[in-house]
Amino acid sequence: MATTTVKAYGTTAPTEDLKPLDIERRAVGADDVKIDITYSGVCHSDIHTARNEWHGSTYPVVPGHEIIGRVVEVGNGVSRHKVGDLVGVGCLVDSCQTCSACEKDLEQFCENGATFTYNSPDKHLEGKQTYGGYSTSVVVDEKFVLRIPENLDEAATAPLLCAGVTTWSPLRHWNVKKGDKVGVVGLGGLGHMGVKFANALGAHVVMITTSPEKGKDAQRLGAHEVLISKDEDDMKKHQNSFDFILNTIPVGHEMDPYLGLLKIDSTMVLVGAVEPLKPFHGGNIIGGRKRIAGSLIGGIKETQEMLDFCGEHNITSDIELINMQDINTAYDRITSNDVKYRFVIDMKSLK
Ligand code: NAP
Ligand code: ZN
Repeated sequence: MATTTVKAYGTTAPTEDLKPLDIERRAVGADDVKIDITYSGVCHSDIHTARNEWHGSTYPVVPGHEIIGRVVEVGNGVSRHKVGDLVGVGCLVDSCQTCSACEKDLEQFCENGATFTYNSPDKHLEGKQTYGGYSTSVVVDEKFVLRIPENLDEAATAPLLCAGVTTWSPLRHWNVKKGDKVGVVGLGGLGHMGVKFANALGAHVVMITTSPEKGKDAQRLGAHEVLISKDEDDMKKHQNSFDFILNTIPVGHEMDPYLGLLKIDSTMVLVGAVEPLKPFHGGNIIGGRKRIAGSLIGGIKETQEMLDFCGEHNITSDIELINMQDINTAYDRITSNDVKYRFVIDMKSLK
């Protein structure tokens, strides 16, 4: 198949910095949309993958699954998008479309293996893998291309494609509603969207953080209370009181302190720690019939619903815009817990 060479940023080994690379994009097929990328968000998952922290990375890795751009070409079978449209691509670029998960609009759990935006085998280019949004353009099947509300700030919508849907989906699935006491653990890229969404859904939102200095920001973002997880007295005051907790901590951690916060029959959903957790005491879920659950991004239909909700409620991410060349510093700042609250790359800097 004919391909086009485009500029990208990626890494060739877990311990290497990201640097300029050339990658191939497929020619536009009948169902494809070609997108000129304008902004690309920086997710902590990009770092886990670049540094092989989840042990599945194939190099080179070109991260980026919070992609915003304009359609510059469409295949002759494309009906959902046209040249000039503002569109987005999140963590998924393909799935089988026929298994029971895909039929339920849960493409992220495709039983035949979803194709993720980066570091997945590429169905279109034999022997190759997918490369993400730290690049100047991308070609994607139209079914995996989202419509972006034009009233929103373009750069600040990029993080909705991953951080947005990853927090929206569990809040919706567990039916968070007006008046529920909802805890969001970790004020980073995901957490700050979790706070905004839980607030917009009418919940009483408590930011649960290790960083007291983030308290003011948490309130500005929509938290009604701030709970410092390292403060044992404060944690005791909130014992057995939460209807729902969304936990975005990016690494394995002690679960017991958070489980103690849940009410009878309520749930803590993990989205961050894709790795072994510290052992926790069974009594902390047996007493109170509490639940621990997990959640992975969201399907395409749900992602579009989230974007439309953001358009109606004027919700975007709080971002720091950076140039592509600043990516290695940005990674170090994220891992040292110094991001307010999502980095977004201005892709003009790579063109
Ligand atoms: P992030 O911006 O780095 O935010 C993580 C936050 O967690 C930090 O700001 C910090 O908040 C808190 N934190 C960090 N280390 C901690 C520790 N050791 N103990 C307690 N709290 C800690 O990361 P992100 O982009 O939001 O991503 C969060 C995690 O979700 C990552 O692991 C990412 O790979 C994963 N993820 C999962 C999905 C999914 O579909 N399930 C999708 C996207 C990302 P405070 O300072 O407030 O404590
Ligand atoms: Zn992500």
